[in-house]
Amino acid sequence: MVSGSCHCGAVRFECDGEPSEGYECNCSHCSRKGLLLWFLPRDAMRITAGADGLNTYTFNRHVIQHQFCPTCGCQPFGLGKKPDGSEMAAINLRCLEEFDLAGVKRVPVDGKAY
Ligand SMILES: [Zn+2]
Repeated sequence: MVSGSCHCGAVRFECDGEPSEGYECNCSHCSRKGLLLWFLPRDAMRITAGADGLNTYTFNRHVIQHQFCPTCGCQPFGLGKKPDGSEMAAINLRCLEEFDLAGVKRVPVDGKAY
């Protein structure tokens, strides 16, 4: 299990398992935020604090609810649905605590092309 938070700590979450790779997308949104994403089923991730205080940003096809803390501005995760309708979470690996990003394989995604 891994856990993480936004910068000010108002939002906290935990996830089952450990990420081995992170998706680095070059789209206008991900590149600006510097997101390094780990996708997992929604029920493998729990928001343990601050769920009520989260703000949501959507763009393009509005399929992903980008969740950010209104106090510190960090985006710890996004929530959405896979094409088959199942709920998923996209965790920002940069918001994990006590986790070494050096061991994570970076997978480039050409989101700009979509
Ligand atoms: Zn915060």
